[in-house]
Amino acid sequence: LSFSSCHLPQRLLENIESSGYEMPMPVQMQAIPAALTGKSLLVSAGTGSGKTASFLVPVISYCANNGLQNSSNGRKPRAIVLEPTRELCIQVEEQAKMLGKGLPFKTALVVGGDPMAGQLYRIQEGVELIVATPGRLIDLLTKHDIELDDVMIFVLDEVDCMLQRGFRDQVMQIFRALSQPQLLMYSATISPEVEKMAGTMVKDVTVVSI
Ligand code: AMP
Repeated sequence: LSFSSCHLPQRLLENIESSGYEMPMPVQMQAIPAALTGKSLLVSAGTGSGKTASFLVPVISYCANNGLQNSSNGRKPRAIVLEPTRELCIQVEEQAKMLGKGLPFKTALVVGGDPMAGQLYRIQEGVELIVATPGRLIDLLTKHDIELDDVMIFVLDEVDCMLQRGFRDQVMQIFRALSQPQLLMYSATISPEVEKMAGTMVKDVTVVSI
């Protein structure tokens, strides 16, 4: 399998190439085609596996193909990536910007440490992707007007780490604010607790292990 056989938007393919990604890594070979068909996935992959691009490529592809349809009622977020830490959010957003260059694809960071007003303003101006830590996203959700009803893809990265940090209830609270999105869930190890969490969110989940 190659990136060019995945039916990706041309500009996304060019961005993948200019990022220096020649061949898909194993997790990408498995997760990208499955995610592009709309399946919910539970992926066991750790740092360094190429997992970030394995969820960003389907997210960007979806936004590029569907981005302008709802422009009449403003740009509303189409995807959320949840990360356990601010640092991971910054890295993921950086990679998202690189892969989404030249496409109708804007991103917003929603993390602690920066003023909330600026993050809210950016979202209200119109973004396709929110990259967030659970705590700050809940702050925005409960105190402000942010519409997440157009979110089609919900990425939960480093779920084992999220659970260790006690984010389970916050993650579920965010999930309940969405309307049945496709779930892309990543964990270094797939424990029964991780599996159970995936099962409470979606009916059918495809397990991907590399
Ligand atoms: P990650 O596991 O997502 O943190 O990715 C690990 C590193 O691999 C990052 O620096 C990516 O930029 C890089 N990377 C991701 N996909 C590819 C690819 N297909 N070919 C080469 N490098 C890649």
